[in-house]
Amino acid sequence: MSIAENIRYIREQINQIQGTDAVSLLAVSKTFGVQAVQEAIEAGQSAFGENYVQEGVQKIRYFEQAFPNVLLQWHFIGPLQSNKTREVAQYFDWVESIDREKIVRRLSEQRGAEKEALKLLIEVNIDQQNSKSGVKAEAVRDLADLIMTLPNLSLQGLMCIPDPNRTEKERLNSLKRMRALFDQLKSEGYPMNVLSMGMSSDMIDAIHCGSTQVRIGSAIFGERHYE
Ligand SMILES: *Cc1c(COP(=O)(O)O)cnc(C)c1O
Repeated sequence: MSIAENIRYIREQINQIQGTDAVSLLAVSKTFGVQAVQEAIEAGQSAFGENYVQEGVQKIRYFEQAFPNVLLQWHFIGPLQSNKTREVAQYFDWVESIDREKIVRRLSEQRGAEKEALKLLIEVNIDQQNSKSGVKAEAVRDLADLIMTLPNLSLQGLMCIPDPNRTEKERLNSLKRMRALFDQLKSEGYPMNVLSMGMSSDMIDAIHCGSTQVRIGSAIFGERHYE
């Protein structure tokens, strides 16, 4: 199937599931070139996720120059090192992988005040995996409070990548715990508009459990080949 057909199919699937909220589709284009992204744009897709700073910035600059009138949103979703924050603050619209104070402070300083505020999601390490990025559920409030005091940033919600190696029951449980945390923070007054969870393999479960944004790569663009 073509990229356009894949997008159409995924949109149909999303629309058929009765989740709690409307669900947006983020097309994860890491490792794919501008031709693939352009096909997705022509199929009506406007929000893209990238994991690697250099690769993402190249694509953003390409589309700014080649299609200056096409409004796209670029989400940084990969692990972010502090020596790369400047480019992310300059070029991206969203960062979904926020998990520490130092990164938050740098993004605030490096985002130009003339630009729209950089939209942030706090990444939650919902399964407490040792090797994984993300903060523990108990630490989300401290990071959220900091973001809300700093200029040029706008807190929007939460993101997670549940451990794929657990049983189905455990994975569903993690997705539900994320939604419960999201609702709890919202009820405490935190600006929680986006709950980003669900990838190609668990999109349907994630929507059933209350995701508001799914991040889909391989089901749109095909298998990835890393260099
Ligand atoms: C690569 C990636 C995705 C997309 O994964 P697929 O399984 O290809 O849909 C989503 N989120 C994050 C954080 C990723 O790194």
